[in-house]
Amino acid sequence: MPHVNTVLGPVAPETLGYVAIHEHIGYGMPGSELDTKWWKDPVVRYEETVPKLQKFAEYGGRTFVDATGICNGRDIDYYKSLSAKTGVHIVACTGFVGGDTALPFFEHASVDYLYRQFMHEITVGIGDTGAKAGIIKVGVSRGGKMTELDKRIYRAAARAAKDTGVPIFTHLAIDPQPAVEVLTDEGLSLDRVLFGHVDDGVNAPNTPDEWIVEQGGILGFDTFGYEKQLPDPPFWARDRDERMEHFMKWVTKDVDAVLASADANCSPLGWPGVKGHTVNYIFEDLIPDLKDNGVDDETIERIFVTNPAAFLTLDS
Ligand SMILES: [Zn+2]
Repeated sequence: MPHVNTVLGPVAPETLGYVAIHEHIGYGMPGSELDTKWWKDPVVRYEETVPKLQKFAEYGGRTFVDATGICNGRDIDYYKSLSAKTGVHIVACTGFVGGDTALPFFEHASVDYLYRQFMHEITVGIGDTGAKAGIIKVGVSRGGKMTELDKRIYRAAARAAKDTGVPIFTHLAIDPQPAVEVLTDEGLSLDRVLFGHVDDGVNAPNTPDEWIVEQGGILGFDTFGYEKQLPDPPFWARDRDERMEHFMKWVTKDVDAVLASADANCSPLGWPGVKGHTVNYIFEDLIPDLKDNGVDDETIERIFVTNPAAFLTLDS
């Protein structure tokens, strides 16, 4: 039966509704949990997160895909309770944001070990939670070039994706040639890969988006809302109009080659986060902007409902 893995169990793809394809319940750098100045009362985390997810549901958002990998604060029991409380489907990932966020235990693991780890989390469950991962996260380490470890993680992910049907999304799409080489070498069809952060201010100029689509990949315009217009913009911010122009180029040319999200943190771990930016940017700013640009309702549904559902669906 075609289905999507959520933290509360498999669901039918047609129940996903509006999907935020790359978000974070709470992302932290490995080790941030050891820094006592950042310790947050669990009640505070709930208080920061629940209203955002409730608002998301009120707007029509039904599915939140968490892109927080192993070692970055992924917390499945917490996600389960948030999903039960708010009615929002939460899809958790296996994998790593990038080789540089993999702790030494995983850093030295073989491709086969990583593959078995991902397979376990997809087919058996994450830890003892019984929740199965619905997507695999991989990424490019800082420095802009894929490291040997990044490649090992991509290879293990490609094998697990091929064996299970779970898709892959990436942190960064710079230096995509070695990624494409590894993924295709493993026989994975690139329409199962969402190449992320093609739209952010730092990486957009260095990301060969046309080339990625020519190879069959999907482009993640997933940092919407991190804009220079914010009162205190982060270093990866981009001019709002410039990003929209870039996105509209693809909406007009090949809307099925793109997915969109806001990459926001509901309650960041060990860092202050970016004030004023939430997953609800999708409904409060992005969709209205698309309508102002003449994008019709049917196309908006394709970007946020139909295409992400097809991407997340496992066929058996
Ligand atoms: Zn992210």
